[in-house]
Amino acid sequence: MNRDPQSEAIAASNHWQQASLDSEKTTPRIDEIFGIDVFDMRKMRQRLPKSVCDAVEQITNGGDKLSPSDADVIADAMKEWAIERGVTHYTHWFQPLTGLTAEKHDSLTAPDGEGGVAYRLSGKSLIQGEPDASSFPSGGLRATFEARGYTAWDPTSPAFIRRGANYATLCIPTAFVSWNGEALDKKTPLLRSIDAISTQAMRILKFFGTDQGVRTIGSTLGAEQEYFLIDRNLYYARPDLVSCDRTLFGSMPAKHQQLDDHYFGSIPTRVLSFMAEVERELSRLGIPVQTRHNEVAPGQYEIAPIFETTNIACDHQAMLMQALKNVAGRFGFVAIMHEKPFAGVNGSGKHNNWSLSTDTGVNLLDPQDDTHNNLQFMTYLCGVIRAVHLHADLLRATIASASNDHRLGANEAPPAIISVFLGDMLTDLIDQIEHGTTNRTLQGGELDLGARTLPALRRDSGDRNRTSPFAFIGNRFEFRAVGSTASVAWPNTVINAIVAESFDYLATELESTVSEGDSKELKDSAVRKVLQKVIKDHRAIVFNGDNYSDDWQVEAKSRGLPNLRTTPDALPVFKESKVQAMFEKYKILTKSELESRSEIFVEKYVTQIGIETRQMLSIAKTMILPAATEHQRRLAQTINSTVSAGVDAENLRNSLGILAQGVCDLQTRIAELENSACFETHEPFEASIHIRDHVLGAMESLRESVDRLESIVDHALWPLPGYSQLLTIR
Ligand code: ADP
Ligand code: MG
Repeated sequence: MNRDPQSEAIAASNHWQQASLDSEKTTPRIDEIFGIDVFDMRKMRQRLPKSVCDAVEQITNGGDKLSPSDADVIADAMKEWAIERGVTHYTHWFQPLTGLTAEKHDSLTAPDGEGGVAYRLSGKSLIQGEPDASSFPSGGLRATFEARGYTAWDPTSPAFIRRGANYATLCIPTAFVSWNGEALDKKTPLLRSIDAISTQAMRILKFFGTDQGVRTIGSTLGAEQEYFLIDRNLYYARPDLVSCDRTLFGSMPAKHQQLDDHYFGSIPTRVLSFMAEVERELSRLGIPVQTRHNEVAPGQYEIAPIFETTNIACDHQAMLMQALKNVAGRFGFVAIMHEKPFAGVNGSGKHNNWSLSTDTGVNLLDPQDDTHNNLQFMTYLCGVIRAVHLHADLLRATIASASNDHRLGANEAPPAIISVFLGDMLTDLIDQIEHGTTNRTLQGGELDLGARTLPALRRDSGDRNRTSPFAFIGNRFEFRAVGSTASVAWPNTVINAIVAESFDYLATELESTVSEGDSKELKDSAVRKVLQKVIKDHRAIVFNGDNYSDDWQVEAKSRGLPNLRTTPDALPVFKESKVQAMFEKYKILTKSELESRSEIFVEKYVTQIGIETRQMLSIAKTMILPAATEHQRRLAQTINSTVSAGVDAENLRNSLGILAQGVCDLQTRIAELENSACFETHEPFEASIHIRDHVLGAMESLRESVDRLESIVDHALWPLPGYSQLLTIR
């Protein structure tokens, strides 16, 4: 029998996945032995001297940096804690501009000079690392020969242990910067944006005199993650999934999501076991999970963690994606995070639930009961509305990627036009603000369900709007246009930055119109005037209707809202002076740090499409064309033998004609894509425009040709597992 190296490799891989699962079953559960595998500086009072704990708390609350001697003490405690848990290595864990996470492991052990080993982790190695960083994207911030990059410990995010059957590594969350201190990662600007929004939001709190006991204000984040699960064996039989994380070809099966029978359906057993395992792993890492369910498309699911402060939530989001991937393997699945792995069924997003909270735990975007009297809430709300209106184009650019382009505007996800949904109650409120007085808060009332045994339900004062890209839902905003592959650190950096700018504007206006000793009436009326102007100037961004409709495209245009349909349309926004000035003013990104990001985004776009076109051509030429021509040969042979047997073969001839036409069409479209796909030598921005205008169409057209053939070529000859297998085998 012929050996099939691919099947053998998959079998071996499955074997090791299974072995690791078995070893978990036979050895006691790690969380039973160690509990939570997290070294949280805020909860280490039993291991650290009081003075060190106080120093750490100071940092979290906007105080000074850590002294070298305190760092030594912490490093020692962290090392002891880690070796008790079987840890052998540590790593500075960071988030480079690839959007993924990076780690380089160092051993905790070193020869002790007397033939034995000693465990070591100094304060210096805890605080600072120096990975050779020349191969990470820097977007021109650093030439390859200038390889130095530093990682810097983020004491506000808990260190954690990554475990496998035979390894345990201490991961220390860090920021990553170049030799001259420029940010080469996603965390550094995020932390700067958190400082900026805290400073500006505090000014508003102070203005209203509600800042007693509050030291900082931070944004909070709960990111719902959608994903697909595909059987590993089918996955490895699809080169497009392996190299692009999405299917480049595939015709729709007879049944997919038409019956809406997957959404919130009963979770399949293998999937539920997987989910439970993911949640166990996450809880061990201190990441609390709130919800799990089936999503709209067959094979699609969602997990939502409980919200946390944004810096920690962003680290946890990266760990959550990693856990989905790792654990999937143990159940014979591959977890696919791509925004649109399958054409024709829903894609995946990452709903970014964002709010503002004081360090004392007060949600500043909670409207409370008599909202019309709550001027402080109205001020924060108007700040967000203003920010989104002024920077709708930047928000759009922030979530732009080759993969998210497939999803935005595809009648399943918000369009590329950014608008804000407020719902009935808040819309009524901003109407009142616009007219100068606020005297009522709309109530939702009760719902009587008619049946005696059912309870009366409390109705919210406004419905939800699934089509809105930036929707207010009760006590937070949900930025729904974020892609499922995205690192949430970047969108949250941008939201914090633009909102900080608007809070700065509002605080300045308020502080300058009100004087010490003004009566409450005078003060209130001054606030109302300021807010009235904001609403007049910026209410064009508020839209409660159907964002999927064609009418909205027309109306948005008449309101002057940007409609940047594709990534190449959106990315130039990062070069605009208003954007650069905003990031610079709040010390979030320097001009060169922003430019480097814009370079990296466009390069990533071009590279991604380059990989996809090459993969498409390779599959079309070496898999599809041979299968189709083989079918054609067999059909021609059948016609010959039918005719020699004296039977009419007219119908067969027709089928052969159609097939031959399909094959001819395939060859033409292969050639067309080959001709248009020579863009990688262009300057990246030019290449992205060329892709938008020429390559995407040619890819689509080649796909159509292949998908048509899939519906007529002998199933036994077709070289790729089809959608019906990929989406339904679980
Ligand atoms: P839905 O799909 O109905 O929008 P989910 O329950 O799936 O809601 O997810 C809601 C997400 O919003 C959760 O991650 C939750 O923790 C988060 N969330 C709730 N309150 C806040 C808040 N104040 N700030 C940030 N995120 C929040
Ligand atoms: Mg949600």
